[in-house]
Amino acid sequence: MKARVLIVEDELDLAELIRMYLKKDGIESEICTDAESAAEMLIGGAFDLLVLDINLPGMDGFELLQKIRPSTSIPVIVVSARDADEDIIMGFGAGADEFVTKPFAPRVLVARIRALLRRVRASFRHEISFGPYKMDLEGYYLARDEHRVVLSSREFEVLRHLVMNPGRTMTSDEIYAEVWENRYGDTTSVAVYIRRIRQKLEDDPQNPLYIQTIHGKGYRFNPEMLNPPAGDL
Ligand code: CA
Repeated sequence: MKARVLIVEDELDLAELIRMYLKKDGIESEICTDAESAAEMLIGGAFDLLVLDINLPGMDGFELLQKIRPSTSIPVIVVSARDADEDIIMGFGAGADEFVTKPFAPRVLVARIRALLRRVRASFRHEISFGPYKMDLEGYYLARDEHRVVLSSREFEVLRHLVMNPGRTMTSDEIYAEVWENRYGDTTSVAVYIRRIRQKLEDDPQNPLYIQTIHGKGYRFNPEMLNPPAGDL
C-alpha cells in the first residue's frame, strides 16, 4: 500500500519540490494551495498524512487544524517560518504531530514524513509475521504457512508479549506481571510456557530461533526473525 500525503502550501514551487522528493521516495502526494479546499479534500479520508503550512491565504493552517481535529486523527506535520516559537506551541496545542521550520531541506522533511508514517502504522498494525508464521494480534490467531498453530490463550499472550518487543530481553517476573497481570505469583510458570511455545514453534526447540534465552536475564524475541511488515515504506 502506497502512502498518500496531502501538501497544503501556497508557495507552489515549494509544494512541487516536496512532491518531487516524496515521489522519489515512493510516496504519492497531492498539492492544495488553500485551507478551505484542503478541508474538503480531507473529508474523503484518502490521505495518510498532512503537511500543513501555517501562513496561507484565507483560513490559516491553525484554523484548518482546529477544524479537522475533532473528526480525524490524520498525522500532521506543520511547516512554519523560522523564529516562531509561538507557532510551535500553538501547533502542538492544535494537534500537530511534528513541526518543521522554514527554510528546510526537502530531504529532512521527507525523512520526518517517513518516520511519522512508520510510527502511526506500527501502532495500528495488528499482524506480525516472522519466519513462516503469521500472528494476528487481535484475532488471537497464529498460522504457519496458512495452517493454524494451536496455542492456549496464555501461550499466545506470552508469545505476543515477546513478539511485540523484539530484541528486548524480558525477565520472567516482567512477563509474568504482564501476562498473568499479577506481580506476586509463581513466576517459574513462565519457563514452562516458554518451553511449550518453543515445542510448537521451533524446528529444534533445544536451539530456538525465535525465542532466545538470555542466560541469567530472561527471554527475548529474536528481532532478526521478524519479517518486514506488508506495505512498509
Ligand atoms: Ca505560506
